[in-house]
Amino acid sequence: MSYELWDNDEEINYFREYLRIPTVHPDPNYEPAVDFLKRQAKELDLPVSVFYPFDKANPVLVITWTGQDPKLPSILLNSHMDVVPVFPENWTRSPFSADMDILGNIYARGAQDMKCVGSWYMAAIRALKKSGTTFKRTIHLSFVPDEEMGGRRGMRVFIDTDEFRNLNVGCGLDEGLASPGEEIPVYYGERTVWRMTFKATGQAGHGSLLLENTAGEKITYILNKMMALRQTQVDRLKNNPELTIGDVTSINLTRLDGGVQSNVVPPLLTAGFDTRLALDVDLQRHEDQLHKWCEEAGGGVEIEFDQKHPFVKPTALDDSNPFWVAFKKATDELCLEIKPQIFTGGTDSRYLRREGIPAFGFSPLHHTPVLLHDHDEFINADIYLKGIQIYKKIISNLANLS
Ligand code: ZN
Repeated sequence: MSYELWDNDEEINYFREYLRIPTVHPDPNYEPAVDFLKRQAKELDLPVSVFYPFDKANPVLVITWTGQDPKLPSILLNSHMDVVPVFPENWTRSPFSADMDILGNIYARGAQDMKCVGSWYMAAIRALKKSGTTFKRTIHLSFVPDEEMGGRRGMRVFIDTDEFRNLNVGCGLDEGLASPGEEIPVYYGERTVWRMTFKATGQAGHGSLLLENTAGEKITYILNKMMALRQTQVDRLKNNPELTIGDVTSINLTRLDGGVQSNVVPPLLTAGFDTRLALDVDLQRHEDQLHKWCEEAGGGVEIEFDQKHPFVKPTALDDSNPFWVAFKKATDELCLEIKPQIFTGGTDSRYLRREGIPAFGFSPLHHTPVLLHDHDEFINADIYLKGIQIYKKIISNLANLS
């Protein structure tokens, strides 16, 4: 297609309008986005509800298309409205202008993560409604706040409300990641996030002595053990090309604190780690191991968990999960190359899976460089238009499941 055709395309214009709303952290104002989405719902002739599970500044908006059999569990098309901050000086165009270049590349914060997906849902529903189709299952489109901050003001609290339970969700779609090649990843699980600080206490004193039982020796013991474990995972990943980062445990030293000056042996030294535990890690055994290292270090070492998520079972990708069968049938019919994977970071899908709801993380952003949270985030207009066709098929298959 040409610039003129893209520029006059109704769906591309709706999408660019959504991109121009700066729902940006650290203090996003969601009201303009809510107004825009309410107008979209009106265009679609579908009812809309706005909930405030956390506070008035963090709305959750749900557009509903009721199915022929409203008792059947529904399909939830979830996306987050918020986007991460920008460094405008590093962008070649204004990050909330949704500028399109001659090649059809549309630049904006949120173009990949994940206003494209929210827009795709609406565009697909618009096309399906226009064609006169109806479905067995009810479809809900949820637009949530705060995903980029872990969903504490969004999905994480919404999922515990009666309003969410009343949606009677049977299966959810949520975000995935772009991929530069033909293949599109489908995420069916996430690693378990544990963030912790080791606090080593010991004998304080003069820096000229060789004191026993110092915090320095203890924290060194812990650092060595953690780094040795890290190396096993580096090797695992390096030696098996089949594995992706989501298949192994990541361990990163993220903070080192303590001490006052270099000739004083301090009474306390701390080391903070970000760890994402692979799904095959026995969490109890792992925790026992960490405590054992603290004892071996000489005692007086404590672990303080900043985040200690429970194990969440991944979504089944076999015949036991009819939603997967329907999803896969759609992507097969569309001749899409999909690759099931474990997500590297965290998304709102984890809250659905925690409730036992199957969820697929999927953004049909193939032939697209991975630019989420990066400067000059963009999506190509043709990829966007193709995505509408992909969602039409996937949504139809899921919503028509008996
Ligand atoms: Zn996202």
